[in-house]
Amino acid sequence: MEGQTPRGSGMSMKIIYFMINGKLERAEFRADCSATEVKELFRAAAEAEPHHILKMYNMSGTVVNISPRLEANSADSCYRLEVVASDLQSVAMPPELEKMECRLHQLERKVIEDMAKTPEIICELKNQVESFKKKLENVEHLGWMGLLREGNHRHSKAPPKARASHLSVQEERLRVRMKFLNMSSLQVTEEVREHLKTPTFDNWQWEEAEMLVLLQVMYTDLDFLTAFQIEPEALQNFLFEVYCHYNNIPFHNFQHCFCVTQMMYGLIWLTDLRNKLSRVDLLIMLTSALCHDLDHPGYNNVYQINAQTDLALRYNDISPLENHHCAVAFGILAKPECNILKNLSNEQYKLIRGGMIKCILATDMSRHNEILNKFKAMQPVFNFTNKEHKEVLMKIMVKVSDISNEARPMEVAEPWLDCLLQEFFNQSDTEKLKGLPVTPFMDRDKVSKPSSQTSFIRFVLLPLFTELTKLFPCLEQHILEPVRRALEYYSDMEKATKEEEGAKP
Ligand code: 5GP
Ligand code: MN
Repeated sequence: MEGQTPRGSGMSMKIIYFMINGKLERAEFRADCSATEVKELFRAAAEAEPHHILKMYNMSGTVVNISPRLEANSADSCYRLEVVASDLQSVAMPPELEKMECRLHQLERKVIEDMAKTPEIICELKNQVESFKKKLENVEHLGWMGLLREGNHRHSKAPPKARASHLSVQEERLRVRMKFLNMSSLQVTEEVREHLKTPTFDNWQWEEAEMLVLLQVMYTDLDFLTAFQIEPEALQNFLFEVYCHYNNIPFHNFQHCFCVTQMMYGLIWLTDLRNKLSRVDLLIMLTSALCHDLDHPGYNNVYQINAQTDLALRYNDISPLENHHCAVAFGILAKPECNILKNLSNEQYKLIRGGMIKCILATDMSRHNEILNKFKAMQPVFNFTNKEHKEVLMKIMVKVSDISNEARPMEVAEPWLDCLLQEFFNQSDTEKLKGLPVTPFMDRDKVSKPSSQTSFIRFVLLPLFTELTKLFPCLEQHILEPVRRALEYYSDMEKATKEEEGAKP
């Protein structure tokens, strides 16, 4: 292959030509190096910061995945590398705090002139301002106190979305809509389409409009458009409305919706479910994944119930969030221009509605053991044509997709954990402020990244994924092994932290 040269040990080197800032550059890496190494190589070439998103385009302007599988090329068929998003800004400090800091500095200078050293009291004040600044950076929910300027705070340590911070939410949505409609799913290359079918897909490389195109590809490549006579325009309107109904919060946002749907899509292909379940069942599963967290407020059911929120009142404390996600989904489908189910018979519509309600309500983690135990009991005699068996399997598939971040490559999974903990900490901080019971696994004083993951993987992920793998042994390598590796990674991290603490005087 052009651009591929054998080197010393016989290991082939890949040579990639690409343009960055108008300059032609050449990157060389071993064909067997890791995805992280390749990404770091291009990150260095682009002089990008860790929070920037890198985008690689091929000659026809399509985004290609930055991975060791990147196709080698020549100088005249070079890729184009771009740093597309860099809206990550530090938290804007409230003006009062800035003024106070400035006054403190002036005072300090003056006192030093007189006393030749900073007095204790000023050191103390400086420490207090510093610690308050740190708190502000972490405690995003203080936005409601009017301390943070709209649009200036970031939600997660994960790569930020390509969002121009001067745009209002409405303007931003319009921009995403235009970009989405101007892109055709035909522009998505075969390579990306194939990659989309695997759990190694990296969501952080794509912006919202592109994710919408990829969702469109999923519906198209599962033949839903032809099977259910879905008009492409209705699908686009539906997907766009779904995007608009996810909130800009650290974890339960549109990116999470995309990841869960993409994992479901991957599982459908990996397990060959197209030949085991009906097309209607597949539509139910994919659309449930897409809608399963619609309008999530960033505070869980326990909070809803304890704080007696409108949602808890409306749904009598029974899975308030999941009931809401599902109701929002059918609210979107009730708009004629978004109704992807409008060409179906009443009977089919009822079937799909019933199926989606069951699947979305099944994502309430307080029902985890109930559903897993049912599935376990069916396992020895599992029958794809048995209605009850099939329904439980569909719930399990949505549940697995929902909590599948740790089945992804570490560099994709770890930023998700930062997002999750940020949302957890927001909730426990609010609980403390309001005097509500504090949810222990969300308490920033009690949990850390490793402690939160080791127990979640041991007691939730492994038992669930193992059960699904019994039915589909091929999932061992795709979801079980990465989760086992994640457990090892976080166990090592936990041990190292403990040793460090033990070594402290
Ligand atoms: P969801 O709210 O996304 O529908 O349901 C999944 C729930 O499972 C999350 O809210 C969160 O509590 C938990 N969860 C999902 N993934 C992880 C993870 O990687 N680590 C931990 N500790 N909890 C998770
Ligand atoms: Mn979810």
